[in-house]
Amino acid sequence: MQTYNRLPVSFVRGDGIWLWDDKGDKYFDALAGIAVCGLGHAHPAVSQAVCEQSKQLVHTSNLFRIPHQERLAEKLCAITAMDNVFFSNSGAEANEAALKIVRKYGNQKNIDTPTVIVTENSFHGRTLATLTATGNRQVQAGFEPLVKGFVRVPFNDVDAISHVAANNKKVVAVMVEPIQGEGGVNVPSDDYLNQVREICDQNNWFMILDEIQTGMCRTGHWFAHQHNGIVTDILTVAKSLGNGIPIGACIARGEASQQLQTGNHGSTFGGNPFASAEALAVIDTMQNTDMPAHVTATGQLLQKKLRAALSGIEAVVDVRGKGLMVGIELDRPCTELMTQALEQGLVINVTAQKVIRLLPPLIIDHEGVELLVGKLQTLIKAFAGS
Ligand code: PLP
Repeated sequence: MQTYNRLPVSFVRGDGIWLWDDKGDKYFDALAGIAVCGLGHAHPAVSQAVCEQSKQLVHTSNLFRIPHQERLAEKLCAITAMDNVFFSNSGAEANEAALKIVRKYGNQKNIDTPTVIVTENSFHGRTLATLTATGNRQVQAGFEPLVKGFVRVPFNDVDAISHVAANNKKVVAVMVEPIQGEGGVNVPSDDYLNQVREICDQNNWFMILDEIQTGMCRTGHWFAHQHNGIVTDILTVAKSLGNGIPIGACIARGEASQQLQTGNHGSTFGGNPFASAEALAVIDTMQNTDMPAHVTATGQLLQKKLRAALSGIEAVVDVRGKGLMVGIELDRPCTELMTQALEQGLVINVTAQKVIRLLPPLIIDHEGVELLVGKLQTLIKAFAGS
């Protein structure tokens, strides 16, 4: 189905931060499959795990114990200080699990229409509940009736949440991305998440953090909310968890971890031996290479070099982000830059019409950063001058 307006290139091979197309041309990958291939392409540890597990056992069913899945859950809980995990195959499904947890919580409290506060410009997925949670009319249009039980507030506006708290007694949770990805790499105030946490505590609401894009070291911590020193009730992750093998997780803590009981939710594929073994290899590799520290250092370098290289270009309105999640906002729509970049051997994304979104593989080194900044400078200068 024509659900994507595809760019005119077919990649057939990858290695680290590099991709090759079917004509043999080489590309710098500054997108990593939209924040998926954190360890880059064909990482030896990941390839080994995939090969070995595929020869051992790919799938059984969640009717049986799955040792790899249990180990993966333990690792995720240790990294996040959370209690338990439901495994899915995608980000949207991880968010569905989160929304089912808060519905269950609300229904147990006899709240009719348990309601979740969500934000403008958010993105949470394409299933009916997650597209309803998403703050983008384009994603919703044509799919009405939308799911009940959501109220929307501006992103990075704590007063708006407090206002809802005072007036709406059906609220059971707040759902938010620590940095909005699809919405334009929107970074909130440093203490935004701390304040949301406080309001959730005051009102006995669950805090749901969608870290599907920001998680797995992308921003320089394992998860972006760890910059704030807080814990959440529900945390969703997907994308980089599998480095390209489909796997997602809804991780819960305390009361939130006790809502879903036997028979309440399920997935045929979620957390199968193959996907779990591969995700374990991803986490082990990130731990062994101290990925958070690497991303912090290379991310700072990337932003510093970008600011310097783009400083004279008037069309550049802002350079922002955290770690290796960086947005360059221009003063005009610039989606055609994706095709122009490909012509220069560079893979980038443009989101929210005007924001060049960089999500390179986390393994990018200083030399890679220099190369990327040089390519972007040439590209943006040519675009802005035209
Ligand atoms: N949430 C966020 C923050 C995302 O960035 C995405 C995907 O871009 C999703 C949810 C949906 O994930 P998936 O496409 O794996 O369903």
